[in-house]
Amino acid sequence: MTAQVIDGKAFAAEVRGKVAEHVARLKEKHDLVPGLAVVLVGEDPASQVYVRSKGKQTTEVGMKSVEHKLDADTSEADLLALIDQLNNDDSINGILVQLPLPKHLDEDLVINSIDPAKDVDGFHISNVGLLGTGQKSMVPCTPLGCLMMLREHHGSLSGMNAVVIGRSNIVGKPMAQLLLGDSCTVTIAHSRTKDLAEVVRRADIVVAAVGRPEMVPGDWIKEGATVIDVGINRIEKDDGKTKLVGDVDYASCAERAGAITPVPGGVGPMTIACLLANTLTATCRANGLEEPKGLTA
Ligand code: NAD
Repeated sequence: MTAQVIDGKAFAAEVRGKVAEHVARLKEKHDLVPGLAVVLVGEDPASQVYVRSKGKQTTEVGMKSVEHKLDADTSEADLLALIDQLNNDDSINGILVQLPLPKHLDEDLVINSIDPAKDVDGFHISNVGLLGTGQKSMVPCTPLGCLMMLREHHGSLSGMNAVVIGRSNIVGKPMAQLLLGDSCTVTIAHSRTKDLAEVVRRADIVVAAVGRPEMVPGDWIKEGATVIDVGINRIEKDDGKTKLVGDVDYASCAERAGAITPVPGGVGPMTIACLLANTLTATCRANGLEEPKGLTA
């Protein structure tokens, strides 16, 4: 079997198109412009690239984009004061603090100081609890993007065996909650899992979120399974240049899978599209308006 490629780049463009249409209607009917504030502390090069990309795409869908770039030695009190100001700013509907933060800042404290209704990353403890209990919440962008692609490909996920490799708070755990919410039978595998190959072989859906280049070989994949590769790893090629690869060995997995997301061009583009979708959802909720369909969990 040769897998169908799930084109995350094209799907993300569709999601952004839907968001842009909805944003235009909000402006026309309600004179509302959703606002997203991104806070970056320090000069981590990868974070700078993400923040630039987020700002550009936010503006492109017609939303207001605000960037706050703070020095690496910014005090916790100053960062919390900025978040407080954004929490109380009616023109801001979404607040994202780019992670990782410099070591002297308490990440949990900072994230939990964001108004949960504006927590478009879905990392606030209230949103984690709401998601875990099946209530309306802000859903972390990367797993939300994976869920959207799975729903688009399969329609219903009910009764499917799903294995999530990785148990991080950002990807693995919320991914498992979302799959459970869609009535999958979910296994969370991690670095201490015994006989990972056998666990993965049972899966109709495999979500790999580990951060180890090409770790999952094709012979772990059940014939016809759907493989969602969250990993983004930069590796050196034989010619000394670098390239991005995922957590699964794409060539061998694509031979056995029914469908697979490529890296790049799979989960990555969906993550920012879902950030925009979350900002739109937060704006609608804050103003008592109907939420856009198909853009939340
Ligand atoms: P993390 O380091 O926080 O978590 C990795 C998880 O993998 C851990 O739970 C660990 O238990 C598990 N793990 C480690 N070694 C393992 C092994 N040998 N076998 C099984 N499990 C193992 O990472 P994260 O933040 O969840 O990110 C995972 C990957 O996804 C990274 O490559 C990251 O760059 C990527 N990522 C991509 C996006 C995107 O937008 N596409 C977003 C977030 C993260």
